[in-house]
Amino acid sequence: MFTDEYFMKMALREAESAFEKDEVPIGCVVVSNDRVIARSHNLTETLNDVTAHAEMQAITSAANFLGGKYLVNCTLYVTLEPCVMCSGALSWAQISKVVIGARDEQRGFINKNLSLHPKTEIVTGIMENECSSIVKEFFKSKR
Ligand SMILES: [Zn+2]
Repeated sequence: MFTDEYFMKMALREAESAFEKDEVPIGCVVVSNDRVIARSHNLTETLNDVTAHAEMQAITSAANFLGGKYLVNCTLYVTLEPCVMCSGALSWAQISKVVIGARDEQRGFINKNLSLHPKTEIVTGIMENECSSIVKEFFKSKR
């Protein structure tokens, strides 16, 4: 069964890969017609690039897969609420739906009163505990 939890689990697996590389553990997948067309995780340390958030890479790779810049009929599953930069990129991509695991009250776009493309549906709180605890665990290990 292709549920939101099913794809969020795949995004979480990406976050785990980031954790193993000592990257802030955030992961995402892009799904089109029940098929994963892009998957990525945060690589800001590896690439030495502050824009290398999971979502930015997923947008580029999904667009390459589709052969068009707009992510029509695509859903992004991301373990942590996108930041302002990524929400801007998602808005440009006109993605159909964004499913968020954990909220990011400080750096997420929702509290900044930003919205995505008017047609973009937003769902929050899918596997929230798992998605937030991996980030907490990461920062605890840094102390
Ligand atoms: Zn971001």
